[in-house]
Amino acid sequence: MLFKQKNELYQSKELSFLSYALTSHRVVIYIARGKMQYVSLFKTFFNISLSLGALNYVMAISESIHLKNKIIPQVIVNEAGTALSHYPELEEVAIEFKFKPSLKKSFMKAQPKFSTLFKPKKKRSYVILMSETFKIDGLELQIKDIPENVMIGWLGHELGHIMDYHRRNSLNLILFGLRYSISQNFIREAERVADTYAVTHSMKDYILDTKKFILNNSSLSEKYKARIRRLYLSPDEILLLVKEQETK
Ligand SMILES: [Zn+2]
Repeated sequence: MLFKQKNELYQSKELSFLSYALTSHRVVIYIARGKMQYVSLFKTFFNISLSLGALNYVMAISESIHLKNKIIPQVIVNEAGTALSHYPELEEVAIEFKFKPSLKKSFMKAQPKFSTLFKPKKKRSYVILMSETFKIDGLELQIKDIPENVMIGWLGHELGHIMDYHRRNSLNLILFGLRYSISQNFIREAERVADTYAVTHSMKDYILDTKKFILNNSSLSEKYKARIRRLYLSPDEILLLVKEQETK
């Protein structure tokens, strides 16, 4: 019976929207006539229309939510939804958010999927790799230790990288990757561009929360904080950037 219901649900061409009500009930993601809108319950209250079929489907295929062109692990769907809502330009861009057991040097990393690198831009897709546990100089942070706003800011920064990648052609992207791997100055430039995208997409507060989380976190080493200070925009620079935006 459930199976039949599910089939009807997915096959129905009349279906104008599908809502996934998540177990947390904090976010409802609507796919409205192919257009995606991310709505956070913090902003708007919706009556949750819970489709048992849809929910079962989501549970069954793993712990990620599969949307038209986004794959998001359930555990961060709320934060990713909020971050994505700041980037309407990325609505049609395929992005997968993916956990890895651990990443070197960073907690998250955005990159184009290699298999799509030489395809036309429209078919290019990206992945945001995230470390399941964030290990830095002996300290280990789990996803659950990271406050929601900090996570949103972090994701917003990674989406900033994708904005930067998406304006480049394939060759340019390859050169970008090469330069990023050899030049500290280039890394600095790229990280600042990503931060700037986030700030100009009204994510200032989230980005500041992320900076404060790192720079005021007594358990993180001075070495790591120094690296962050060196490569990323400082809180003061972010505020300056916002001022510049406002006077434009
Ligand atoms: Zn970055």
